[in-house]
Amino acid sequence: MVSAGSASPAGSERSTYSAGKSDSSACGGHSTDSMAPLAPLVKPALKRGWRDLNTVQFGMTPAHAMTVGPMDTATGSFLDLLNGTRGLELLREEGRRMDLPDGHVDGLVRRLARAGLLDDAKGGGPAADALRSKEGVLDRLRPDLASLSLTTSEPGDAIGRLAARRSLRVQIRGAGRVGALVASLLSGAGVGEIDVRDVGRVEPWDVGPGGLPAEAIGDRRDEAARRAARRSAPDRPPRRGPRPSSGEDSTGHSLVIIAPRDDVAVHAPSPSAAEALITSGTPHLYAGVVEGTGIVGPLVLPGETGCAGCLDQGRADRDPAWPRLIAQWRSGSGRVRRVPPCDLALATTVAGLTAAHALAFLDGHVPSSAGARWEVSLPGLSWHARPVWAHAACPCGAAEKGEGEHPSEDEESHETMAEQRPSDELSRKADAKRPAGTWRAHV
Ligand SMILES: [Zn+2]
Repeated sequence: MVSAGSASPAGSERSTYSAGKSDSSACGGHSTDSMAPLAPLVKPALKRGWRDLNTVQFGMTPAHAMTVGPMDTATGSFLDLLNGTRGLELLREEGRRMDLPDGHVDGLVRRLARAGLLDDAKGGGPAADALRSKEGVLDRLRPDLASLSLTTSEPGDAIGRLAARRSLRVQIRGAGRVGALVASLLSGAGVGEIDVRDVGRVEPWDVGPGGLPAEAIGDRRDEAARRAARRSAPDRPPRRGPRPSSGEDSTGHSLVIIAPRDDVAVHAPSPSAAEALITSGTPHLYAGVVEGTGIVGPLVLPGETGCAGCLDQGRADRDPAWPRLIAQWRSGSGRVRRVPPCDLALATTVAGLTAAHALAFLDGHVPSSAGARWEVSLPGLSWHARPVWAHAACPCGAAEKGEGEHPSEDEESHETMAEQRPSDELSRKADAKRPAGTWRAHV
């Protein structure tokens, strides 16, 4: 008897498979029920192993592993043929040669696709085809493509998303150790257009591996960071048409990353500086290093999740001295020229995690920085999330949408609650409240 039964997440831990599947339409992926993959391949990113005589485990780690069973050994060895080199017709022929019953191959392909375990070596649409034709470029991005196959479920989605990154525009405000490296990372990961904004010239202490090079000392900071980003790109992305000129924040950026060199601005991001972003509905993500603490977040989805204004109001509620302190810090900065502390490894870590959160968002997910700041401090380096609750007095309007999420007096309890709220729960909640794709990247 030949069979390939149901699929389920491996072990007792939750799988992100369902989260990936829920927004699989973001890049125009086709439904496997309506259209079979042209060249099916079992996702090579997931290592395979037999758990017992009739159960196969795909993947090693709890986040993405899944078991499929019952599966007999004949079907198990047939999986090796699903490697993207054969179309369905040829696969059926191979199945007949192996004495698999009629319809078995189609059923297997269908079930694997439904479980999110199947990719399509020829899928993803025209943009994916264009990317495939650039062999050198795709080779640079192969690990990223394999990784995307873990967070997408429909065959062809992974390369579709990778190709979609090429048409995205991200603005980065601030080109110090963190911002310049974020620019290079996003560019290297295939984001097509990186627009870096900053003032002044590169100082010796701006230099860092992957970010601004020592040769750029004395050059305009924004131009040097743009050059570094271009150098990291796997390809020269296609030229875009003229941009709309109606204001800085309505130019169609999929995301704005705010990575100030000023440590006060990292600790206490200015609500007024983000006003135009809130008004235009532009998603933005904060990142930086203040003293010995690295910060990633919040990712602000205007009107949906807590913003810089919400953060400020919440702090003033909890600490009556907050407005007085922040006024002193702000007026103090700039008076004396000083180099703020910024540990190179910490800045690099922050830049890496910022880019990862940005890419997760650009690829159609809602990462855990939405409504939270991830913080890590030297020298213990434990990461934890501090929630940024939507505040009723903040004009961004997020509090009206997140009914029931008003701040309590105890920040400790917030942290506990944040840790108990997985990101995909927030994602589901956010998805339920707005039309699909509202916060997805403009592609
Ligand atoms: Zn707000």
